[in-house]
Amino acid sequence: SKRVYLLNEGNKDMKMLLGGKGANLCEMAKLTLPVPPAFIITTETCLEYFKEGTGDLPKALDYSDALKALEEDTGKKFGDPKKPLLVSVRSGAPASMPGMMDTVLNLGLNDEIVQGIIETTGNERFAYDTYRRFLNMYSDVVMGLEKEPFEEVITEMKKKKGIKLDVEMQAADWKEVVEEFKKLNPNVPDDPREQLRGAILAVFRSWNNDRAIRYRSYNGIPDEWGTAVSVQAMAYGNMNDGCGTGVAFSRNPSTGENKFFGEFLPNAAGEDVVAGIRTPQPLEEMAAKWPEVYDELFKYQDKLENYYGDMQDIEFTVEDGRLYMLQCRNGKRTAKASVKIAVDMVKEGTLSERDALLRIPANQMDFFLHPTLDPSAEKTLIAEGLPASPGAATGKIVFTPDDAEAMANVGEDVILVRKETTPEDIHGMKSAQGVLTSLGGMTSHAAVVARGMGKCCVSGCTAAEVDLSQKTLTLGDRVLNEHDVITVDGSTGEVYLGTVDRRSAAEDEDFQTVLKWADDLRKLKVLTNADTPDQATTARNLGSEGIGLCRTEHMFFDPERISVMRAMIVSEGREERIQHLNKMAEFQREDVAALLKAMDGLPVTIRLLDPPLHEFLPHSKEDMQALADTVGKPLSVIEDRVAQLQEVNPMLGFRGCRLSVVYPEITEMQAKAVAAGAAECKKAGLDPRPEIMVPVVSTARELKLIVPRIEEAVREELAETGQQVKIPVGTMIELPRACQTADEIVETDGVSFVSFGTNDLTQSVWGFSRDDAIKFIGRYSEQGLLDFDPFARIDEDGVGGLVSSALAKAREAAPETKVGICGEHGGEPQSVKFFHDQSFDYVSCSPFRVPIARIAAGQAAA
Ligand code: PEP
Ligand code: MG
Repeated sequence: SKRVYLLNEGNKDMKMLLGGKGANLCEMAKLTLPVPPAFIITTETCLEYFKEGTGDLPKALDYSDALKALEEDTGKKFGDPKKPLLVSVRSGAPASMPGMMDTVLNLGLNDEIVQGIIETTGNERFAYDTYRRFLNMYSDVVMGLEKEPFEEVITEMKKKKGIKLDVEMQAADWKEVVEEFKKLNPNVPDDPREQLRGAILAVFRSWNNDRAIRYRSYNGIPDEWGTAVSVQAMAYGNMNDGCGTGVAFSRNPSTGENKFFGEFLPNAAGEDVVAGIRTPQPLEEMAAKWPEVYDELFKYQDKLENYYGDMQDIEFTVEDGRLYMLQCRNGKRTAKASVKIAVDMVKEGTLSERDALLRIPANQMDFFLHPTLDPSAEKTLIAEGLPASPGAATGKIVFTPDDAEAMANVGEDVILVRKETTPEDIHGMKSAQGVLTSLGGMTSHAAVVARGMGKCCVSGCTAAEVDLSQKTLTLGDRVLNEHDVITVDGSTGEVYLGTVDRRSAAEDEDFQTVLKWADDLRKLKVLTNADTPDQATTARNLGSEGIGLCRTEHMFFDPERISVMRAMIVSEGREERIQHLNKMAEFQREDVAALLKAMDGLPVTIRLLDPPLHEFLPHSKEDMQALADTVGKPLSVIEDRVAQLQEVNPMLGFRGCRLSVVYPEITEMQAKAVAAGAAECKKAGLDPRPEIMVPVVSTARELKLIVPRIEEAVREELAETGQQVKIPVGTMIELPRACQTADEIVETDGVSFVSFGTNDLTQSVWGFSRDDAIKFIGRYSEQGLLDFDPFARIDEDGVGGLVSSALAKAREAAPETKVGICGEHGGEPQSVKFFHDQSFDYVSCSPFRVPIARIAAGQAAA
């Protein structure tokens, strides 16, 4: 097979074989842009190199003809001092892996050839500058020598001469540097062909260096692709003041503004721009200096953007007033820029709405909903955890919810730092600007509650040691005390020392346009998981079409309410329980009415209590004493009752509809409260659409018992109020047995909808505890056992397979039953696509994920 391609033999669609860089070089040449002559060795040849495993170039690789063609095109000769040809040898994978692999520039030099360069160019300074660059790079990239001693030589030389900048170095200085470099590494081969062989091998090898491997695993790039190698005639940006090199974007990659944007460094080589040795100048200065070169570059960027139909990232070099194009590719951009560019291109008529929508990185749209850290702000990273709930916040560290509340009451911004959170922390979470936990994953209590509140949260920061008694947060060697200031970024999981400037992304017109495109296309409805009127209103403003899950246990997180809930839980008999339930009913009715009002005319799915009991029981002696005082019983009675209720495995314990089976009065109270709240709204002239949902069902028989009780209670309550409201009843499917028998579940009388609870389903299918998996899941990822966190993104093969077969059974048995999902996955773009493909009716997600789900659902349908 063909291993070597000239520029006129390839095109932009050959990325797999020629790499992104190589394919685009061919395309630019085809468009008659000035590209220095080059040949490209294929990715397959790289794979062949690894397969043969000899450490030498693949036997069948022969680039001598291609090199000859290069010589003919340039009128120069590789290895010939009379008209020396120097080349660059660069990596180029099918997907962009910026800076991960190796490159050697100015290859083809030795002591004799450097004289030839001096003679042919008459420029001694340039010749030695180029030679020292080559020796340095070859020693580092091909021979694996440390860079520092080489840098040290240059630093010393500048000191000796009393100068600061590379451009101030004279020919004799660089010549001396070259001598020193040769002492540091006398083994750079003299033979240019040997140099070329070494550099190609180094580029092949760099496909499997550690950082490239890590980058691929983070970005889902297959290890089997390999890198191409481009060998290209050098264009020199470092010859004299008529030269330079730069990077440009056809639009601003940060703001998206449709204005040619870039930077330029006069009399310098490409690596100087990247290395930040000197501060580049804005392109405007190049325009003033060399208007013709600028005009030409402007014309090319415009041509390339139109041709590729997307914003282009361009590298160029100017050699003695002549422009050379070295690279083009679709440019990376911020969330903000991606939206603006997509909308602008539709307005300009170069992109359809559909194609523009598909270019939006749904996952990054958090940007528009939360304050974000100013990327240019100076900051000290001190720890990393999971990006549990987006947004960024700065505040003083506090270690207890009471301290958080007390400080917030006097106007202080605080970050609540906990090992993990429980319902007892809610008031502290509410008061805090952000939350940091050392334990807990993406669906831990802290993560779910923080997302619901729209509060930023970093969870699972396993490097953090939280010492409550000492009130210290230890991160490696660093010990932080109460009231020290930190900044947490829940969008990235990063934690910084001190204050970091933030920016708010206000209502953005372009973002709204993108949402509208998505809404026009999507088939999935997007509902929200909301427990309070505030959350409901937020979600509605963000486009939610109702509440798909209201977790009623969350309505009892307030300190005032949790005691009633606790009193109910530790009740010793039905009488006593009903007494507390009546109090709970009051809260519940009010809450339901408020939610129905906030979501007037839209469905509001109220789920029956599903308290994993351990989350609600008092743990400390003080809390138990407080409860004893509230209910007027001796402490010992409370202690006994708590001990009795203690479970070894609470997630598999006495929760969900099991509560209804044992204590029908709880269900009855809840159903009546929903009916009463709805009746109240109806009476006030609203259009309430409540639904009641039964959680953690294992068998249809549970429903056969519970659903009639709900219906009966609703009937009674409505009869009493004299109002007529339709209140459909449905259930959750969040256990494997429920999936397996989904047909029986949907056929149960009175069940008119089902919602898959993919949080519990993931937990029960994998057998990974939602709260504890964080302890080992990281090691799973590191060792390649998991490609992603199945609690964050639906595991299509396992959990998804079960969901899909359950859905098929449900649809066959009762096609009119409404089917949705309300696990955290409902707001994750790839999962949303899966649910669309499965033809679900709706997804329900945290309020701040609603716009992301809308976009993802639109993209799935596009
Ligand atoms: C679920 O299990 O997916 C669900 C939505 O319920 P919860 O997270 O409240 O257990
Ligand atoms: Mg659940």
